[in-house]
Amino acid sequence: MSSIDEVVANLRLITYVDENVEAYLHDETPKDVAPKPNKNVVVVKPSSVEEVSKIVSYANEYGIPIVVRGGGTGLSGGAVPIKPSIVISMERLNRILEVDTKNLTITCEAGVTLRELIEAAEKVGLSFPPHPGDESATVGGMISTNAGGVRAVKYGVMRNYVLGLEVVLPNGEILKLGGKVIKNVSGYNLMHLIIGSEGTLCIVTKAIIRILPKSKKNYTLVIPFESENDAIESVSRILSILTPLAIEYIEVDAIKYGEKVTGKKWVSKDGKAHLMLIIEAKDEDELIEIAEKIEKACENPLNIFVASSIKEQRDLLEIRSMFYEGLKDEIIDIMDVSIPTANIPEYLRRCNKIAKNLGLKIVTYGHAGDGNVHQHPLKCEDGKEKYEKFKREAFKIAKELGGFITGEHGVGFVKKNNLAEFLSQSELELMKGIKKLFDPNGIMNPGKVIDA
Ligand SMILES: Cc1cc2nc3c(=O)[nH]c(=O)nc-3n(C[C@H](O)[C@H](O)[C@H](O)COP(=O)(O)OP(=O)(O)OC[C@H]3O[C@@H](n4cnc5c(N)ncnc54)[C@H](O)[C@@H]3O)c2cc1C
Repeated sequence: MSSIDEVVANLRLITYVDENVEAYLHDETPKDVAPKPNKNVVVVKPSSVEEVSKIVSYANEYGIPIVVRGGGTGLSGGAVPIKPSIVISMERLNRILEVDTKNLTITCEAGVTLRELIEAAEKVGLSFPPHPGDESATVGGMISTNAGGVRAVKYGVMRNYVLGLEVVLPNGEILKLGGKVIKNVSGYNLMHLIIGSEGTLCIVTKAIIRILPKSKKNYTLVIPFESENDAIESVSRILSILTPLAIEYIEVDAIKYGEKVTGKKWVSKDGKAHLMLIIEAKDEDELIEIAEKIEKACENPLNIFVASSIKEQRDLLEIRSMFYEGLKDEIIDIMDVSIPTANIPEYLRRCNKIAKNLGLKIVTYGHAGDGNVHQHPLKCEDGKEKYEKFKREAFKIAKELGGFITGEHGVGFVKKNNLAEFLSQSELELMKGIKKLFDPNGIMNPGKVIDA
C-alpha cells in the first residue's frame, strides 16, 4: 500500500474523504500568479469539530501539511495546496447554530457562506454589513483573511464583527476564545491574532458574529469626472463632510468588463473615472440635500446620477461586483495595496507614469473610501517582466506613502516574497515566533504568509 493510500485509509476511519480532488486545487487567484497546485492531496470533509480535531492530530503526528479550504474565493492563492497535503474542506460545517436577537449575534460553523449569513440576519430584520464581493466566501475564510469589501469605510472589516471563535490548534486541541461581548481585555487577544492568519496558525471551526440593526434607506450615486485625478482627489473631500456606506473609485475602462458579464448597462461612460457612492438617507428630500453637498465637495464633477429604485441600484452593484469576473482572464494579477486615503492620488499618479513608461496597461478600481485600491495589469507582450518591474516600484511608492502590501486579500502565496519589504526585522521575528509557538511542526498551510 502506497503512503497516500494509507493516509486515505486512516482518514476514512475519521471522516468523509472526497476522491474528486481537482475542484480543491485552485482558488480565484489570477492564473499568471497563482501557485502551481500539488495534486498529491487527500480532500476531507469533516462535519464536526471533533472530526477536525482527529484529522489535525493525525496530520500533526505524521507531519502532513494541512490546507483549510472555505469557499475557495481567495485572491492570494491561500487555499491552494502546494505540498502533498490534507485539504480540509469546511463545506459540511455549515450550520447556523443560533440567532440571538437580544445580544445581536449569530453563532455559526465556519463553512456557512456569506449569503447564508446575510439571509439569517435579514430573516430577523437585522443585517450583517461587511460585503467582500463573492457571496460564496465562508465565515471561516472571511475571518482568516480579515475580509473587507465596499462597506468597510463605514462599517469596518470582518475583525469588527467577530466576537468569539472556536478553533482547533495544530495539536488537535479545541480552544474557545471570546464570547458575546463587545469589550474584552483579558490578556493578549489571541482571537484577534487568529483573525487574518490565513490558515497558518489553526483552524476556525465556529464563530460568534455580531449583527446590527438595518441601516436607513440606501441610495447609489455615480459621479463621472473628466480626469482620474479629479475623481480620486474628490474622495478625501467627500469623506470630510460625511461617511458614506461605500465610495468606490472606478476607471471607465473597468466598466465594460462588468457590463460584459451581466449584460447590463452602467449609467454613463462620460469622463475617465467615476466615483460610485452608497449613501443612507431617510427620504428623497434628505437624499437631494446630501447629493448637493457631495457635488459641491467634488473636484470638477461632470454630472451626478442618482439611482433610487431598488432595481437601478441592484444593477449598478451587480455590474460593479462583476468587474473582476470580466477581467480575470485578461489580467496578470490583482493588486491590493492599502494607502492612507489622502495619499491615493499621488500613489496612482506615480504608478500610472511608471506603467506608461513600461508600456503596461493598468485598469484600476477599488474601495477608495478606505484607501484600498485594486490595480489590474493587463496581459501583453513581455507582460510578466513588465509587471514585475512595475510591482517593485509600486510597492516602494506604497511604502513611502504609508501604505501596506495588502488591504483585504491577504498575503497567501502571491505576496509572501514581498511581505518583508513592508515589515521591520523585529516584526518579522515576532511573527515567526508566533507561528512556531502555534505550529511547532509547521503543518499549517506551509509556504503561505511567512516561513518560521
Ligand atoms: C469576485 C470576487 C470579489 C472579491 N471581493 C472581495 C472584497 O471586496 N473584499 C475582500 O476582502 N475580499 C474579496 N474577495 C476575496 C475573497 O472573497 C475573500 O478573501 C474571502 O474572505 C475568502 O473566503 P473563502 O471562504 O472563499 O476562503 P478561501 O479562499 O477558501 O481561503 C482563504 C484563506 O483562508 C484560509 N481559511 C479558509 N477557511 C478557513 C478556516 N475555517 N480556518 C482557517 N483558515 C481558513 C485558507 O486556508 C486560505 O488561506 C473577492 C473574491 C472574488 C472572487
